[in-house]
Amino acid sequence: MNLKGKSIRELESIFADLGESRYRGRQAFLRINRDLATDITSFSEFPLSLREKLELIDPLPQLEIKDILRETKETKTVQVREVKIETDNDYEQIERKTSPTEKLIFKLKNKARQVREVEAVWIVANNRRTVCVSSQIGCSLNCSFCATATIPFKGNLETWEILEQVYSFIRSHPTEKLTNVVFMGMGEPFYNYDNIIKAARILNHPKGLALGASHITISTAGVVPAIKRFISDKEPFNLAVSLNHPQDEGRSAIMDVNRRHSLSELLKVCREYTKVLNRRISFEYVLIPKVNMSQEDAKHLIKICRSIRCHLNLIPLNTKLNSWKRPGQREAYKFQSILLDGGLLAFNRGSPGLGINAACGMLALKNNESKGA
Ligand code: SAH
Repeated sequence: MNLKGKSIRELESIFADLGESRYRGRQAFLRINRDLATDITSFSEFPLSLREKLELIDPLPQLEIKDILRETKETKTVQVREVKIETDNDYEQIERKTSPTEKLIFKLKNKARQVREVEAVWIVANNRRTVCVSSQIGCSLNCSFCATATIPFKGNLETWEILEQVYSFIRSHPTEKLTNVVFMGMGEPFYNYDNIIKAARILNHPKGLALGASHITISTAGVVPAIKRFISDKEPFNLAVSLNHPQDEGRSAIMDVNRRHSLSELLKVCREYTKVLNRRISFEYVLIPKVNMSQEDAKHLIKICRSIRCHLNLIPLNTKLNSWKRPGQREAYKFQSILLDGGLLAFNRGSPGLGINAACGMLALKNNESKGA
């Protein structure tokens, strides 16, 4: 039996079923999600007999950390327009200014004792400390620019496995304050809806880390029915949508999910999100030369973003799949300039973790391996 990843109510019933007082559930929730306990001996308010009884049932399983990769430079998100850039080399200098990005590789064992791995990333930028978590083991989507698509999909993560990714980073950075969690690691969060929403609620819970809902972002490739559910449940968390192409045909060519839920359907539900919840939506747009960076693409993108209250995050391509190349600095800036001139809020998010295969789209790549053609 596992006490991790459970709501207070669930923990209360577990303790009631064990013949204990219900309030033990609330105490356990605090120990697990606020104190990040790794061991039942730290439940000091529990009588010894109860601790001994619990110890027999392995109530606090851990994710085994298989590897830690640490980048030696920090990366900073820059709004390129504010910075005078002379050469690609200068741009690299800017990227080197900020503190280390870290990638944790976790080993999970399922009931059949097969070993599976997932990855999470700790990103330091300005005053923010962000953990990027995986929601699935691999991914069942097949986005043609993303490395996670190249490994076999092996199912959903449990709520506790998602939370443990965050808690592991906090334990290893005891002097730093976590400010944000983004569901932008491996997998499609909206294909594991119940578990990720539950994890987000526990992160947000006042008796847990009490991370503000606006500091928790869930990213989807465009699973329209789940976005509808998110809206009707009035979930307080931020929503990001990986747009990546501004036209239906082009989007279907790089993201299979677009064949299931067309761009127009997706944009309609995004607009509804901003209106019903009165919030801005974030669009992610991976920059792939010759695929989605033409003048015409910029024109369509401007039209879309001007009709929906949004932020646009540009992400230079981080993989070499399909022989595609990461855009040069000038090329990325040129595209961004057209958007800024078109009145959009468009940021170049940079690529923290690029050197350790921890940047967007790189999870699943082994160190020193870059997915090539
Ligand atoms: N499946 C969800 C969660 C993953 S988020 C989603 O698609 O939103 C991962 C983000 O990284 C997405 O915005 C995706 O578009 C972006 N991405 C994927 N591969 C990338 C790559 N090779 N280079 C840059 N960004 C990439």
